[in-house]
Amino acid sequence: MAQENRGVWIFSELPSLAFELLGKGRVLADRLGAELAAVSVETDGGAEAYIQHGADRVFLMSSPTLSTFQVDSYTDAMTALVNEHRPDVLLIGGTRNGLEFAPRLAERLKTGCITEATRFELDAEKNFVLMERITYGGNLVEIQISKSKPQIATVAKGLCSPLPADPSRKGEVEKVEPKIKPPTTNVLETKQKSAKSVRLADAPVIVAFGRGVRKKEDMAVIEEFAQTVGAAVGCSRPIAEDLHWLPEDQYVGLSGQKVSPKLYFACGISGQIQHLTGIRNSRIIVAINNDPKAPIFEFSDYAVVGDLYQVIPALADAIKELSRV
Ligand code: FAD
Repeated sequence: MAQENRGVWIFSELPSLAFELLGKGRVLADRLGAELAAVSVETDGGAEAYIQHGADRVFLMSSPTLSTFQVDSYTDAMTALVNEHRPDVLLIGGTRNGLEFAPRLAERLKTGCITEATRFELDAEKNFVLMERITYGGNLVEIQISKSKPQIATVAKGLCSPLPADPSRKGEVEKVEPKIKPPTTNVLETKQKSAKSVRLADAPVIVAFGRGVRKKEDMAVIEEFAQTVGAAVGCSRPIAEDLHWLPEDQYVGLSGQKVSPKLYFACGISGQIQHLTGIRNSRIIVAINNDPKAPIFEFSDYAVVGDLYQVIPALADAIKELSRV
């Protein structure tokens, strides 16, 4: 692979995730002695930023059809680009769009796709990338390999660290005008679901609660605390699916949102494996639970054993006090 030097590519429609992928891609590309390229769209306007964050080349796709993410159009555009340049590795941001896009692209290119890869290593011959992924609801770690190229993988947000921007870095920007078939679906309207709805996947701080909160009115304790620490509110599945206290896109876990905040508060959440699967990319987990044997404590960085009805207001007061100093 190193001799062929066809490179490592990254793509995410979410610029912050693209920067993270560049951080990981840079390491892989350097080990392979290969070029690192980012694929972006012209409307994104971020070519220079991609170079500053590690890209040697930016393919800037220019087409009005690509101004909003439409999986058919992006698959058409990327298939043509990959067929022309034949990169060895393509890392795609594991957003909802990315998870839809990556396997379609892989099918079009007749190659493999490993979703939600968590670690990357080169094989002994520096020919293929071995990829780790977590399976069976978080109980197993598998090492997988796709022996066809490009090796496509999706990577969740929060897994890789972006490189600091280096304004002195130089790179090439290549404009591409892809031929795209008319999309099979069109976005007619985009509207916010509710003033309260949040994109948990992007939130740097999350206060999540579970069945330890006894009744719907008590959510005020959580919401007030979230406001104090500038956090988005999330929950465990029963809160959204069974009790309907919050919308379904606000529960976290295996079948819910996968989050990667800097700080995750788990309040009155037991920590079943299905919930833990959604929070494993959190940088710091603080658990508040009145059961010292709750499984969440084994997974958390800070464990507060106590009644959330007492602990949370006390914590909020302490934080307010500190922020006054
Ligand atoms: P419980 O397990 O009932 O825990 C409540 C916790 O609150 C307990 O630990 C208790 O000690 C504590 N508590 C009670 N009172 C207080 C108090 N006053 N102060 C402090 N602590 C208190 N779940 C998810 O969350 N996300 C998923 O994506 C998901 N996917 C699933 C997929 C499948 C296929 C299946 C089978 C299940 C899935 N689940 C998921 C459900 C999961 O197995 C658990 O049932 C769920 O996470 C439990 O939610 P909980 O922690 O809120 O409730």
